[in-house]
Amino acid sequence: MPTKRLYHSDPLLMEFTCEVLQCQPATGNSSPTPLYEVITDVTAFYPNSGGQPADRGTLDGADVVDVIERGDTIVHITPAEVPLGPTVGRIDIERRFDHMQQHSGQHILSSAFETLFGLETVGFHLGEEYVTIDLNSPEVSPDQLAAAERLACEVVFQNRPVEAKFWDPQSIDWSRLRKPTSRTENIRLVEIADFDLSPCGGTHVRATGEVGLIKITRTEKVRNVTRVEFVCGRRALSDYRLKNSAALCAAAALSVGVSELPDAVQRLLAQVREVRRAHEHARAELDQYRAERMYNEARAMGESGIRLVTQVSDSATMDQLKSLAQRVCQMPSAVALMASTATGNPQLVFARSQDVDLDVARLLRDVLPELEGKGGGTPFLAQGGGKRLDRLGHVMNLASELAAGLARRPESE
Ligand SMILES: [Zn+2]
Repeated sequence: MPTKRLYHSDPLLMEFTCEVLQCQPATGNSSPTPLYEVITDVTAFYPNSGGQPADRGTLDGADVVDVIERGDTIVHITPAEVPLGPTVGRIDIERRFDHMQQHSGQHILSSAFETLFGLETVGFHLGEEYVTIDLNSPEVSPDQLAAAERLACEVVFQNRPVEAKFWDPQSIDWSRLRKPTSRTENIRLVEIADFDLSPCGGTHVRATGEVGLIKITRTEKVRNVTRVEFVCGRRALSDYRLKNSAALCAAAALSVGVSELPDAVQRLLAQVREVRRAHEHARAELDQYRAERMYNEARAMGESGIRLVTQVSDSATMDQLKSLAQRVCQMPSAVALMASTATGNPQLVFARSQDVDLDVARLLRDVLPELEGKGGGTPFLAQGGGKRLDRLGHVMNLASELAAGLARRPESE
């Protein structure tokens, strides 16, 4: 049973009376609550089709959560059962008008690309947040984007009439159509006066001025097409508000004007890189100084003369610990046993100088079970971590004792 579509002739019809002909439980959907399929004799609800999303609103007071097209029939999806007989449907007109602005804007922008550069639109998506068209070229230059956007906005400012109506196929001048249609009957054409003529079943504004503004926001190369993202009307206003406030906020933080922002950000990034380099240099010098001091203050173990450097830090990262241990062990005859509690769990780094005979990986493996930890490394440098923070002091003492007993200098033997 074909549904009479009221939106074709009156896209701003907010309320309509209809006869509910059928209401039955919907099957084959993933909704956790039951849904119903409601069919009426007439409807102003636009179904999901042609790239334009379905309307929302109410039917007999029940929310319409989706609208689908099944052949010539329009099916309203509701979470509540709707009684058969006469009732009233109401359209969420703000959402509908948004779709009209985006869809008419799309026709204008697509026609601008085609008119100026012969770039064809091969895809259209109207989403909740993004509207995109795909142009049949992998390269579209910034100048081309600017020119097409400019022409599209001029067409908006000229407030040209937009007319959508069904045509007798015999009376159509097919050469005037921007894109072909596979339909042979019920051909509906949307005409923007002296600018564009396209087959389309969607809802459109009555004159181009209602589109408000067309603004391209970004582009992306997708396989061999260029995807152009844009916003029209109220979406353009929201987008401008968002970007204006972000720009003002950033400009105020950097004490520059909005137009100076890109340069100011580049300068700031250059400064950050410079400061980071200087910081790394200072950090290395400080680490070297600390390593030398620790080395000089370290006690010698027994007769071997090997210096045992131990440290437990509550803030050092594993990398800092490693750097310090390695610097200590660049000096002769040293064993470094270092730990950090910065993460809340004990972390260990053991190292030794080239001229010391001690396998620190083995030493680490010998003490780690006390911390319920794991780790490993080479005879020169090993690292690991555990869970028992309460036993760290004990483990450091144990490792020191073991190191004192095991460490040798080959030439001292
Ligand atoms: Zn269309």
